[in-house]
Amino acid sequence: MSSVFVVLNGGSSSLKFQIFDPAGSPDPKIIYRGMVEGIGTSPHFIVKDCDGTVVADMTWEGRMPFGHEEALVELVGWMQAHRGGYKLGAVGHRIVHGGRFFDGPVLVDETVLEKLETLKPLAPLHQPHNLEPIHILSRRAPDIPQVACFDTAFHRNQPEIAQLFAIPHEMTEAGVLRYGFHGLSYSYISSVLADYDSRLKTGRVVVAHLGNGASVCALKNGKSIATSMGFSAIDGLPMGTRCGALDVGVVFYMLRDMKLNADEVEKILYTKSGLLGVSGLSSDMRTLRSQASSNRNAQRAIDLFVYRVTREIGSLIAALGGIDGIVFTAGIGENDAATRAAILEDLTWAGFTLDDTANSSHATRITTGSAPGAWIIPTNEELVVARQMSQVLSATARRLAS
Ligand code: ADP
Repeated sequence: MSSVFVVLNGGSSSLKFQIFDPAGSPDPKIIYRGMVEGIGTSPHFIVKDCDGTVVADMTWEGRMPFGHEEALVELVGWMQAHRGGYKLGAVGHRIVHGGRFFDGPVLVDETVLEKLETLKPLAPLHQPHNLEPIHILSRRAPDIPQVACFDTAFHRNQPEIAQLFAIPHEMTEAGVLRYGFHGLSYSYISSVLADYDSRLKTGRVVVAHLGNGASVCALKNGKSIATSMGFSAIDGLPMGTRCGALDVGVVFYMLRDMKLNADEVEKILYTKSGLLGVSGLSSDMRTLRSQASSNRNAQRAIDLFVYRVTREIGSLIAALGGIDGIVFTAGIGENDAATRAAILEDLTWAGFTLDDTANSSHATRITTGSAPGAWIIPTNEELVVARQMSQVLSATARRLAS
């Protein structure tokens, strides 16, 4: 039975996974990807091979209980039974928040897990679900190494000034900082910049990670120097259902005058705002695009999204002191030509000249002229987790051997 790396991304009702051959060169090689969705309601397990061919598709209508634990059991069972059988060699977890504790991946032990537990309030939508598979595996398979990889870690070495809020310093010292997120995605993009244009690796680049969750990040010499998300993953750009940056006075108004409690405010700002809130229709850019010609609020949501992304990019250009390139990535960034075109047209002042044909056909480089340029680069957060697993496990093995 061959031993594989499994990368897990636990959500509230889903468990996404990728299975890697750790012996791939130079990177671990993906063999399968899939998910269990509908956890808690109507579970659906689907696995595809690296060509996208479906190799498993199962549902368990009415099977209760079916939580994350049952999902993991099904995954491991399928792995053992498939082909010659795959053995869980190590598990890597995509964890949204590493707080001030972690500026890189870490082998999970009890102390690590205790620290990660304290960060749940900082990412209430993600952290509890990211940690649940760790708890389950620690209990059921304590000998399997688990590596935690963080969305915050890539930003931990930003200049101090970029991490500060203008609040009493005691609060800063207690950890109320701008952490930033989507770091696994930015780390991947940073690692491949030179493959697209050698000048980008050492240049001033803004990466626009525009998916359901959305943020922008300024890279100088491939390192994060500023980003739009802050203390929590709600800051910065408007997202599918999250409001993005908001005058904190609105929160006081919601609490005092609208008489909402903190949980209600949180629910509105995390799950009923953003594209969904403004359009009153959908959090999904494809739906908004298809309705925009006849639905004024759908168009307004798109316009606000583009406006706020462009303003945020302008702010990062100021932080970088100029710009050599923009990279678009994630669902909207990789697929929505109209959003990319609108952003780049609003950035003409910064020297960008849209190449309409290249953009419409989702080519790699979508501007004309020498510099600055814009590129579409598909992100690969799971590969970053698999790479980080390799690094952590090799370092651990070296330490034990010495
Ligand atoms: P997540 O943050 O959940 O990983 P994704 O990166 O998958 O999100 O991005 C989801 C967003 O990408 C949705 O708004 C979806 O509408 C948008 N998207 C995906 N494909 C297209 C497309 N072909 N055209 C426009 N938008 C798209």
